[in-house]
Amino acid sequence: MKKNDQFTVSIEDMSEDGAGIGKTEGYTWFVKDAVIGDVVEAGVTKMKKNYGFARLVKILEPSPYRVEPRCPVARQCGGCQLQAMSYEEQLRFKEKKIRNNLSRLGGIPADQIPMEPIMGMENPWRYRNKAQFPFGKNKKGEIITGFYAGRTHDIIEQEDCLLGVEENKEILEIIRNFMKEYKIEPYDEKNHSGLVRHALIRKAFATGELMVCLVINGRSLPAAGELAKRLQAVPGMTSISCSVNQEKTNVIMGREIVNIWGPGYITDRIGEVTYRISPLSFYQVNPAQTKKLYDTALEFAGLKGGETVWDLYCGIGTISLFLAQKAGKVCGVEIVPQSIEDARENARLNHMENVEFFVGKAEEVLPEQYEKNHIRADVIVVDPPRKGCDEKCLETIVKMQPERLVYVSCDSATLGRDVKYLRENGYELKRVRGCDMFGNGVHVETVALFVRQENRNHN
Ligand code: SAH
Repeated sequence: MKKNDQFTVSIEDMSEDGAGIGKTEGYTWFVKDAVIGDVVEAGVTKMKKNYGFARLVKILEPSPYRVEPRCPVARQCGGCQLQAMSYEEQLRFKEKKIRNNLSRLGGIPADQIPMEPIMGMENPWRYRNKAQFPFGKNKKGEIITGFYAGRTHDIIEQEDCLLGVEENKEILEIIRNFMKEYKIEPYDEKNHSGLVRHALIRKAFATGELMVCLVINGRSLPAAGELAKRLQAVPGMTSISCSVNQEKTNVIMGREIVNIWGPGYITDRIGEVTYRISPLSFYQVNPAQTKKLYDTALEFAGLKGGETVWDLYCGIGTISLFLAQKAGKVCGVEIVPQSIEDARENARLNHMENVEFFVGKAEEVLPEQYEKNHIRADVIVVDPPRKGCDEKCLETIVKMQPERLVYVSCDSATLGRDVKYLRENGYELKRVRGCDMFGNGVHVETVALFVRQENRNHN
């Protein structure tokens, strides 16, 4: 077979990134847009020695799990890889992904993983509190916004993503019209010219506050006051700013924020805790599920009061403050200075005095504090980015011998890798629970509890 040839295949599995997997004569195919249970006509896109890639040409027999995607651009857009699959089946897919990674990379037999039922969403639509829309031009030279088509930087015009809030559409329209009237050009990646790169829009679900931050390839936005005036017409508008990004880069946000209108942040609430969120701070995108995620982390931490807890990769201190409600003292570590500013402000806002925050890399701050100040911990919580924990960080955690380690992971593959290290170094995996923060997408969040093995011989 060669490129563009067509063949029939039954889809028996799904890859981690949501492609259907099927076999013909022992050769494995990854078929984009096919769903487990489908029989499809597929067209070859690329072939390797032991496996190949193909695209869906025609559904011959639809899977019982197949549903009609609600979004008109579901197939082109890179965002929702699982929209053609029923939500129940999406959850099964995610649970299986966690189990596979913990078994394959973590070295635990699949049937011995202490998995608890995944926490699914009540409604997997309009749940995202954050969106970043790229700006560009269409063939007619009109200013457009939308989403990048999967793995490319071609913009698909779509201002009403069904995962995002309804206000996005109105806000984008105001920005587009403003740009047209004031002859402000969208950024052109090829020539590194033009001004407006992205619009970051965030909404605090508990308070209704809205934030707009325009990422610009320049130091300032002409007629910024006029744009601010127009955006204030949107109910809930609270913070308007620009982020300066003049680099040739795929990174969306620049490091510097220039405030245009409002306090420079919005305020949200999760459970009993109030949080201030700045444009550059990390904040979980799905508030309803975040509550379940943090409640699970808190439950796994098993706090009785009085414990010393370290929260590594703490962002704006969200988990730290959740834990501080029940602990003696919580110390948070985070690499982004603005997030730590928010974290400290959040502690003040909530009148919590039993928290302390450190700026720096977890893998540097923790060993340094351990060696110099002989810090200790009863419980350590980690919530690293997708690349997982640095080994230096895990090494220090193991030396500190906390009773419990709660690992919040956004990538079960790196969690699997770290499970292996922790199990080899005296920690047993006791509980694992998935939490679906990204309905219709392929990612899944996992909370894992490790407990120190008592009778281990510490050299
Ligand atoms: N626990 C927080 C944030 C989790 S996201 C929450 O739930 O909101 C991961 C965080 O780790 C981000 O804020 C990121 O800036 C931070 N980070 C990334 N690499 C880091 C490192 N090496 N050391 C410390 N923090 C890091």
